[in-house]
Amino acid sequence: MYDIIIIGMGMSGITSAIYAQRKNLKVLLLDKSMPGGMLNNLDKIANYPGYIDIKGPDLALNLFNQIKALNINYALEEVIDITVNDKVVVKTKNHTYEALDIILATGKKAKPLVIEGEKDYFGRGLSSCAVCDGYFYKDKDVAVVGSNKLAIREALYLSNIVHKLYIITKEKTINDDIKKVENIEVILDDEIVKIKEKDNLIDSVILKSSKTIPVKGIFVYNGFIPNSSLVEKYNITNEAGFVMVDNNYETKIPHLYAIGDVIKKDVYQLVTAAADGAKVINNIIK
Ligand SMILES: Cc1cc2nc3c(=O)[nH]c(=O)nc-3n(C[C@H](O)[C@H](O)[C@H](O)COP(=O)(O)OP(=O)(O)OC[C@H]3O[C@@H](n4cnc5c(N)ncnc54)[C@H](O)[C@@H]3O)c2cc1C
Repeated sequence: MYDIIIIGMGMSGITSAIYAQRKNLKVLLLDKSMPGGMLNNLDKIANYPGYIDIKGPDLALNLFNQIKALNINYALEEVIDITVNDKVVVKTKNHTYEALDIILATGKKAKPLVIEGEKDYFGRGLSSCAVCDGYFYKDKDVAVVGSNKLAIREALYLSNIVHKLYIITKEKTINDDIKKVENIEVILDDEIVKIKEKDNLIDSVILKSSKTIPVKGIFVYNGFIPNSSLVEKYNITNEAGFVMVDNNYETKIPHLYAIGDVIKKDVYQLVTAAADGAKVINNIIK
């Protein structure tokens, strides 16, 4: 029996594990993917205190090294079910774990485009992570879908790798500076309605305006959806799926806490994810 099980090894989950371990709590940290979470998808981070400029994967590695240095129990397993009663029961494919308290630190994921067959293209030309996948499109033509801050940031990153980049957005205006980048073409007030493939890979997209744009890759920035399906049954999310917590990061279900990008909050940043992780442990101990 653990004191606390933390689901998610992003900045928020890892910080809470560090604080829990240093308070001598028996803690288990679980992640279905890589330690560092979203950090593994980020290029440069210039606003995290203590680092003038650090790459996301490097900060992820530092966090992982800290977990190992502190001998924190962790396992790379996907949590498929949780039950919270007098005690917490957490199920992965091969194991069942028990704890007194549980912290959901599962972050959020990119929202899909909602085009027919879109799911099939993930890993075959469709991506939401320029840092992870940009290099596969070196000297090729790609599209970035969306014109929010993140889409622009990712487009600028990709423009240094690819041959030509189209920004396709439903919006009618866009920041004029982006138009000055030589290999970027902006297509306003339009959207992708169909993806065409050749040899099992993306070859072009057809827009609502009937234009055909020849691209080998599509990077989608359509917003995010929280990874909160594990707690859907507890009715503790808002209409967008973010987990609702009180000032102690506790949900209305006793012993069930949530932190980081999966919760409803004002600022979704690394520094607030870390702060959530520190504060939740303090509150659980209280
Ligand atoms: C493109 C982009 C750029 C950004 N740039 C910056 C920046 O420059 N500065 C800044 O401060 N912030 C930035 N942010 C925000 C920042 O990355 C996030 O706020 C922060 O990483 C959130 O951390 P987290 O721990 O809440 O979630 P995450 O890092 O998303 O971690 C969640 C973890 O939970 C795991 N998980 C999910 N479901 C399960 C399950 N069922 N079982 C097991 N594990 C599971 C996932 O695998 C993941 O590792 C950026 C975000 C994006 C998308």
